[in-house]
Amino acid sequence: MSKKVTPALKQYLEFKKKYSDAILMFRMGDFYEMFFEDAEVAARELEIALTSRSFGKGGQKAPMCGIPYHALESYLPKLVRKGYKVAICEQLEEPKPGKKVVERGVVRVITPGTYFEDESEDRFLMAITRGGDGIEAAWAELSSGDFYYASVDEEGLESLLAKFKPKELIVEEGLAGEVEKRIRELLPELVLEKKSREFFEGGAVSALERFVRETQKDFSPRLKEPKKYKGLDYVLIDPQTQKNLEILEPINDRLKGATLFSVLNRTKTGMGRRLLKFWLLHPLKSPREINRRLDAVEELKESFFLLDELRELLSRVYDLERLLTKVTSGMANPKELAALRSSLKVLPKVKELLKGFSCELLRETESEFDTLEDVYCELERVLVENPPYTSKEGGLIKEGVSKELDELREIKEKGEKLIKEIEERERERTGISSLKVGYNNVFGYYIEVSKPNLHLVPKDYVRKQTLVNAERFVTPELKEFEEKVLSAKERIEQIEYQLFCQLRSFVSKRANRITKTAERLALLDVLQSLAKVAIERGYTRPEVDNDYAIEIKEGKHPVLEKLLEEEFIPNDTLLNQREFLLIITGPNMGGKSVYLRQTALITLMAQVGSFVPAKRAKIGVVDRIFTRVGAADNLSRGLSTFMMEMVETANILKNATSKSLVILDEIGRGTSTYDGMSIARAVVEFISSKIKAKSLFATHYHELTELEGKVEGVKNLHAEVEEVNSEVVFTHRIVPGASQKSYGVHVARLAGLPDEVIQRASQILSELEGKKVKELPLFRVAQESKLNYQKEETELPNEVEAVLREINRVEISNTTPLEALMILAKLKERVKELKELKVWK
Ligand code: ATP
Repeated sequence: MSKKVTPALKQYLEFKKKYSDAILMFRMGDFYEMFFEDAEVAARELEIALTSRSFGKGGQKAPMCGIPYHALESYLPKLVRKGYKVAICEQLEEPKPGKKVVERGVVRVITPGTYFEDESEDRFLMAITRGGDGIEAAWAELSSGDFYYASVDEEGLESLLAKFKPKELIVEEGLAGEVEKRIRELLPELVLEKKSREFFEGGAVSALERFVRETQKDFSPRLKEPKKYKGLDYVLIDPQTQKNLEILEPINDRLKGATLFSVLNRTKTGMGRRLLKFWLLHPLKSPREINRRLDAVEELKESFFLLDELRELLSRVYDLERLLTKVTSGMANPKELAALRSSLKVLPKVKELLKGFSCELLRETESEFDTLEDVYCELERVLVENPPYTSKEGGLIKEGVSKELDELREIKEKGEKLIKEIEERERERTGISSLKVGYNNVFGYYIEVSKPNLHLVPKDYVRKQTLVNAERFVTPELKEFEEKVLSAKERIEQIEYQLFCQLRSFVSKRANRITKTAERLALLDVLQSLAKVAIERGYTRPEVDNDYAIEIKEGKHPVLEKLLEEEFIPNDTLLNQREFLLIITGPNMGGKSVYLRQTALITLMAQVGSFVPAKRAKIGVVDRIFTRVGAADNLSRGLSTFMMEMVETANILKNATSKSLVILDEIGRGTSTYDGMSIARAVVEFISSKIKAKSLFATHYHELTELEGKVEGVKNLHAEVEEVNSEVVFTHRIVPGASQKSYGVHVARLAGLPDEVIQRASQILSELEGKKVKELPLFRVAQESKLNYQKEETELPNEVEAVLREINRVEISNTTPLEALMILAKLKERVKELKELKVWK
């Protein structure tokens, strides 16, 4: 760097040092300019020209790019959404002649977690530190003011990250080392902000508040009172399950509408939309609380006209929470206050309408509903009907609000009338009928005379400007008049701006009350949305209680049912203490996965308080929903497909309780058949004997169907197939009993594998099936006989007894695989002999 550092550059470098991790936007006149590396980054990301500037004569030449100050809002999102932080450095004084550099200051730092004007998505900011015997977390969404805190363990943290998907995480240095790697795997785009132990002195909540204050400075929006996040009140949905059930996001990014949220979302407001998302990720466990919601949904559903009226009223309500954020951060413009006013206008009607309902939740909402009439009246009193966007150019305050303002306006108006008079008079005096009085920013008021008439211009006119076809003049009278009008105009703008700021702070001071009303509107919005969907899709009210059983009659998958072009085939699900472990076999593409998911989704919907797609449903509440679905590669975590599968299965077996719902869509697939089958079977046995969770297990290991009648709780179901003239038809009906075939080769043909491959596969399959018939009976026969023997306690030939004893020994002793094989081989011989002797059936 050159030795010559000009004062401007020096100032720039000082700020840059302080905000080294941000792109520094340095205000210079009408532009924000960026230099050095920032300029290179910004030019690339914003697709603007990279030039250079020299600081002072012969000073340092620096790469530079810039954007006009008024275009900041259109450029900012591009940087922040890509994870950059931007520090805005403003000129704090008007440039004065003689002064070398104007005073500047960074007025705000915009980061991915604090960019609250960007309404395109929710942007949570989270802070975590060590606390108690775990992790203390606080997280907030600045645009709505939602603010929570909780103590969690690492698993709990992962679940929070999955649910709230923060854009930025402030983490205490000491903790960072432990959790950073995992967090980066879970949310690769998250911006990590490491802060010292001291920064976290007062815990995560105050660290978060501090971060907001330090970055947003005078633009800090007001956050709601932080709420303790009571994870235990809700059904636990781990990140994997959240993803598998496609609650908010589709697994396939292209299928945007393919989520539970998009099916259930008929909300009319931003508050409602956010609350519905929260509800779907946090189903309730208390039947009482759930039924309170269901009562409300039912009553809304049945009061058809009131429902439509409520929807109509809500559609006139803007996003109050976001408007309030704008107000409290001092960024709201007149249009936004007008939007707030028109939202408040409907509140008394909402309250009136609520009086027509009798269920507890709606009664309660009505009685607590603050219609904020005082706020509305003040806005109505001060703000004009249709105000402009800017607050500094006048035209936004009503007449009668300020006497001074009204007087100045009169002067200004009179002045305008006077102009007309001057124009008339001068036309007469000079005889120039085309003479006109005009105004521009450079010369102020002028008299314009066209070229052919110039000879008529009187002596007292002073020439100011020459145009192609005309000349412009001023007169002392005009100058005097101009001063009056202009100073009135300036003063009007000043007063209006002041009054506007007063109005904004009037609203700001009532933020708490507005927030409460916004929350009640959100609740109403979600309830009406659920009622609306229930009507449109013909859902029924589930019976929700604390029993064990789940009984779904003619249930449908809520998303597929809506999106499928063909008719959706409904199916029943019955889970009770006698039959709680459903083993579902059947062909590929038969409908097993759909059946599993629909059971989980209907249960989840019921516990959210929604009606469900079924003819009838009785839901004994569950405490957790676990799903383990298909192959979830997680190479970034360094785990193979199979390992991942086992990690997930282990998690389920460790954490599921008898109140949980477990969905297992295949386990043990990514390994050898025998390993996989053994694991699958052992898992079924473990769930049956130790956990007793309601479980649905789809599998292609038909051997597992042998467990029905032997292992407690197991019941076989299969996806039905009809073979019509050797054509295979999947009916998508789930019916009792086991299926024998997977029809994998058939599905492969449908998928378009080359004929040659299909033919060869069929051939191999029949060879293998032949072999299986020869080999498997040994196991099966031995096992079954053993059980029959134990059950019936009939006398068996000594020979058979000896064999059974051997089998028992093989099973219980710690034989090495080789020994086991040898014993089995011996047994095989014996069985053969016995069969020949016909002692063995
Ligand atoms: P695989 O064993 O290959 O995983 P699967 O038995 O799990 O297969 P699903 O994924 O459940 O099969 O279903 C395959 C397709 O069948 C679905 O995408 C859907 O189009 C259709 N389908 C499933 N169930 C139904 C149903 N009840 N009604 C109508 N169509 C259905």
